[in-house]
Amino acid sequence: MALYYCSLHTRLFSRRWQRWVPFSQATINEICGYYDLLRSTHKDASLLYVIAWACDQCAATLQTIARSQARQQESGE
Ligand SMILES: [Zn+2]
Repeated sequence: MALYYCSLHTRLFSRRWQRWVPFSQATINEICGYYDLLRSTHKDASLLYVIAWACDQCAATLQTIARSQARQQESGE
């Protein structure tokens, strides 16, 4: 099972709640360490693995940057 995690905002995507929730980086590191350990002993371990992912706050930040850049281009800067 894949876990989607945004390390920039320390948030995890919850399948249960279908939204991003605050989640500790230390816990993610523990899960990664545990997964590495499992993989080293079982080649077909497909338990939990963490995927770096952009959360909704990242998307909102990118939209703000894109908007301000578009505005600067319109004003000829
Ligand atoms: Zn984010």
